[in-house]
Amino acid sequence: MKAYALFTVLAAAIAIPATAQTPLGEIDSHIAAAKTAAGLDYRATFVNLCFPTPLPGGPRGGAALLIPRPAPDRGIWYASPYQVFDNLYWLGTRQHSSWALKTSAGLIIIDTNFAWATQPEILDGLTKLHLSPRDIKYVILSHAHGDHDQGVATLQSKFGAKVVMGGPDWDATLKRAPDVAGGVPVRGPGDIAVGPEGTKVTLGDTAVDIVFTPGHTPGTLSYIFPVKDKGKTVMVAYSGGTLTGAFGSDAKRWDEYIDSQKRLAQAAAAAGASVILSNHSEYDNAYTKARLVGVKREVGEDNPFIAGSQSVQNYFTVMQECATASKLRNMAK
Ligand SMILES: [Zn+2]
Repeated sequence: MKAYALFTVLAAAIAIPATAQTPLGEIDSHIAAAKTAAGLDYRATFVNLCFPTPLPGGPRGGAALLIPRPAPDRGIWYASPYQVFDNLYWLGTRQHSSWALKTSAGLIIIDTNFAWATQPEILDGLTKLHLSPRDIKYVILSHAHGDHDQGVATLQSKFGAKVVMGGPDWDATLKRAPDVAGGVPVRGPGDIAVGPEGTKVTLGDTAVDIVFTPGHTPGTLSYIFPVKDKGKTVMVAYSGGTLTGAFGSDAKRWDEYIDSQKRLAQAAAAAGASVILSNHSEYDNAYTKARLVGVKREVGEDNPFIAGSQSVQNYFTVMQECATASKLRNMAK
């Protein structure tokens, strides 16, 4: 380091009042807490959240994801559909997940992936699993980013599915140009714009508790819902938005995200959730676990998706601790 540069650094350090500095040790202690909570189960969540990189072209779901594109080479994304619980079906690609929750009165689709995945993964997937796309009654979207919502307009126009989205994300979606990838859903009677108070979507014998968890987007939704594992009820916590790479020094956004994770963790604990799901396989290992479901279980062995309630809490600890570390790091810049 040249002498003048060293002087500049020293002068800057002296000029900052002690109270405005974030001791490196504090950031490190949050990262250490996240790493411990992540263990081997949530390593990808840990590295992506604790060491976020600004995404090229701005936040995900920005203009780049709205441009219609042909499907990438099928060999890099296609995955077979799998039944993972008695009434829950995985319809994802190897990277992104869509889910079908079967109720006594039809299907609820959770997240819809890219437009090019609608036919091969969601529609053909349902058919392969002996379910009918005509039974889709609701589509619940975790947030309005193209990797999770491009299929929704098709499911709405073809099958009359009602669309559930966070209010701010609905508003943003309706402002899209009509020629965006996958098209734009319409908001009509029966479609639901969820506000900060959250809501419950009930179809037949199944209710999805919707928790408003802004942060990743202004209207991100997360869920708590029951599934059955060989007849036994198991509670699922579904984390609707993960990355924080676009937050920069916006303290309010960091705080909103951290608060959302706390509230969702509390809701998961109150419900006794022992399964954590996400819309990216990277974070919940859905693709791996979906294939494991088909492997014969030993006596007493749980469904591979059942992580236990402590593990579910650990997931949210990773999110909170990494977000806190990243916030401190960004504020200190
Ligand atoms: Zn997103």
